[in-house]
Amino acid sequence: MIIVMNAHSRDEDIAMVEQKVRELGYEPHTIRGEVRTVVAAVGDESVKTSLESLATLDVVETVMPVQKKYTLISRETHPDPTIIRVGDMEIGGGAFHIVAGPCSVESDVQMLETARRVVRAGATIIRGGAFKPRTSPYSFQGLGVEGLPILARTREELHVPVITEVLRESDIEAVASVADVLQIGARNAMNYALLEAVADTGKPILLKRGLAATINEWLLAAEYMVKKGNRNIILCERGIRTFETETRNTLDISAVAIAKQETCLPVFVDPSHAAGRLDIIHALSKAAIAAGADGIMVEVHIKPEEALSDGSQQFRPDVFGELVEQLEPYIRAAGKQMISARVV
Ligand code: PEP
Ligand code: MN
Repeated sequence: MIIVMNAHSRDEDIAMVEQKVRELGYEPHTIRGEVRTVVAAVGDESVKTSLESLATLDVVETVMPVQKKYTLISRETHPDPTIIRVGDMEIGGGAFHIVAGPCSVESDVQMLETARRVVRAGATIIRGGAFKPRTSPYSFQGLGVEGLPILARTREELHVPVITEVLRESDIEAVASVADVLQIGARNAMNYALLEAVADTGKPILLKRGLAATINEWLLAAEYMVKKGNRNIILCERGIRTFETETRNTLDISAVAIAKQETCLPVFVDPSHAAGRLDIIHALSKAAIAAGADGIMVEVHIKPEEALSDGSQQFRPDVFGELVEQLEPYIRAAGKQMISARVV
């Protein structure tokens, strides 16, 4: 921490602050300027009392952290990218993943047919929510536990991993028994008890950024899970709430570049929930690839006009196929490998 003293502070004020720093277990290093003096307190804050409270002293102007709060996921301490194994694939090791599937699991036929089509078109992982966090309590809430065997069947028949959301702690065991990757949705991105409990499964986790979370808050949410001993965390930027009304959310491309630069974790982008409309998903996906994303997650429905949730942002499978074809040269140009589509 850097403790900035008030302008023209007296020697005894500086000595008093140095003494407090020592009492809290840190080593003070004082730099005296013409007008202002700063006291640099050296020591690992994660295991000691925080120095933030020194800001309440009359003689102190401000207290500023120098240490990044997310040490376990930071590239500074972990220069090598984290590689996550999902099925027989790797995430974060140079392969580009395309996660696709419906917003919600609605029926056997809808899930299986959509999954078959997207895998044929090049999707590497299937998505589909059994438990849905809906804004209105009157909207379709997902099939719940009844959706899980449908996901299990999809996974077995097509030999592809599935991602699905965990809404609450009591569902973790059931969801973890079928999912290859557990999703923490934007609305739960700061539910720290849930983050820790999901981390305890040891399974790969896709962590969406909260609707109004800063990049720092998003990364600290990931840090919570890594601190529990689970390093298999995929960060997912899905747009944040802004004043803009042309899109459902605002895709924060800077967050993708910063997460890639600052952390060792793989980063995915969900352009569907960012845009909330189909006509810009191609462009947003290309931007995600250019910013360094390791994958995208796109909503696709066999019959979007009949979808029980997010109908306006789900591609038809044939349009999804065109998207994958269009993205291929961008993925290659970004130095990532397109994993070849399986034929099922
Ligand atoms: C989803 O991906 O199904 C979803 C609900 O997204 P988000 O949590 O980003 O809103
Ligand atoms: Mn959705």
